[in-house]
Amino acid sequence: MPKNTIYDTIIIGSGPGGYTAAIYASRGNLKTLEFTGPEPGGQLLITSEIENFPGFSAGIQGPELMKIMEEQAKKFGTEIIHTEVTRVDFSKTPFEIFTGSPSPLPSPHGGEGGRRPDEGEKLYRAKTCILATGASALWLGIESETRLKGRGISGCATCDGFFFKDKDIIVVGGGDTAMEEALFLTKFVKSIKILVRKDALRASAIMKDRAKKNPKIEVIFNTEVKEFLGKDRLEGIKIINNKTKKENELKIQGAFIAIGHKPNTGIFQGQVELDPIGYIIRKENSQTSVEGVFTGGDVHDHRYRQAVTAAGYGCEAAIDAMRYLEEK
Ligand code: NDP
Repeated sequence: MPKNTIYDTIIIGSGPGGYTAAIYASRGNLKTLEFTGPEPGGQLLITSEIENFPGFSAGIQGPELMKIMEEQAKKFGTEIIHTEVTRVDFSKTPFEIFTGSPSPLPSPHGGEGGRRPDEGEKLYRAKTCILATGASALWLGIESETRLKGRGISGCATCDGFFFKDKDIIVVGGGDTAMEEALFLTKFVKSIKILVRKDALRASAIMKDRAKKNPKIEVIFNTEVKEFLGKDRLEGIKIINNKTKKENELKIQGAFIAIGHKPNTGIFQGQVELDPIGYIIRKENSQTSVEGVFTGGDVHDHRYRQAVTAAGYGCEAAIDAMRYLEEK
C-alpha cells in the first residue's frame, strides 16, 4: 500500500478474535490491515488438538486452525503484516499505529547508517481500530514445563480436560481459576491434587468450598513444583514443601497450570480505559473508551477465554466498526 494510505480499519492481534474481525471487515469491503505479531495465532499455537471448535468434528490442531483463518482473511483482501505493533496514538484521527523502534539503535554488526534491520519506526493510519491482542497464560517458567507443554501440561481445562479421562493429575494455583479448572476436570479425571504455594487459598469462599467438598480433589498447601518428569510425555512431578523443604515425587499424567493470565495491553496503557487487572473495558457493545476503537477476544474477556468466544467477539468488533464508518 502507498505510504499515505488510510485504512478503514487496522486490527492488532491474530488469535481467533483478530482473524475473525479481519474476515468480517474485509468481506464487508473495509480496507483492512492486520498486524499479527511475530508469531501469528496467539494462544492456540501452544494448544494441542482442538475438539470443541464447531465445524471440525474430527478435531484440528491449533496452529492449523489459525492458518486456515489467516487464509480466509487474505481471501477477502485483508493485508497481513507479521510484525509487532510497538505504539499507538488514539488521540489523533485517523488513529496512528506504529511498528518498529522510534530511535533505531546502531546495528551490532555496524549495519548501514547505523539502523537496525527493522528500519526504525513505521507509521500506519486508520479510521477505526480493533484491539485483539489476547491474553497470555502465566507459566511457572521452569525448563521441564516448557519441554512438556502440550504433552501432558496444559493451561486450559476446557480445551484439554477431555484428554485426561481416568488420569491422576495436578492443578497448580490457589485462585478462582485453579478452583474452576479443578472442578471442571473432576468430570473426567480420577484424582486431582491442587498444589498451593501458600498456606491459604486466594479463591473466593464459594469456590474454595466447592473444591473442598469434591471427593476427587485434595488441596496440598505450602507446595511448589520443582520439576516435571518424563521424556516425551508427562509421567510425574517432583514437588517440595517450602516450609519443611521435604521433597516428594508423584506419579501423574496431567498438570494444569492455573496461576493467572496477563492481558496483552502494555501498548494500550493511557490510550483506552483498562480495568485494574489490565483488561480492556468495553463501553458500548464492542467499543472501548475511545470512539472508533473496538475490541474483541481475551484481551477484554477474562471469563470465557475460548477460541469460539474470541471469534464471536472479533465478529462483533468488525460489525461495530463497519456500522461506525457507515454512520460517519
Ligand atoms: P489469581 O491471581 O487470583 O490467583 C493466582 C493463584 O496462582 C494464586 O493462588 C497465586 O498464589 C498462584 N500463583 C501465582 N504465581 C505462582 C507461581 N509462580 N507458583 C505457584 N503459584 C502461583 O488468578 P486467577 O486466574 O485465579 O483469577 C484472576 C481473577 O479472575 C480473579 O479476580 C478471580 O477472582 C477472577 N476469576 C473469577 C472466576 C469466577 O468468579 N468464577 C473464575 C476465574 C477467575 P499466591 O496466592 O501465593 O499469590
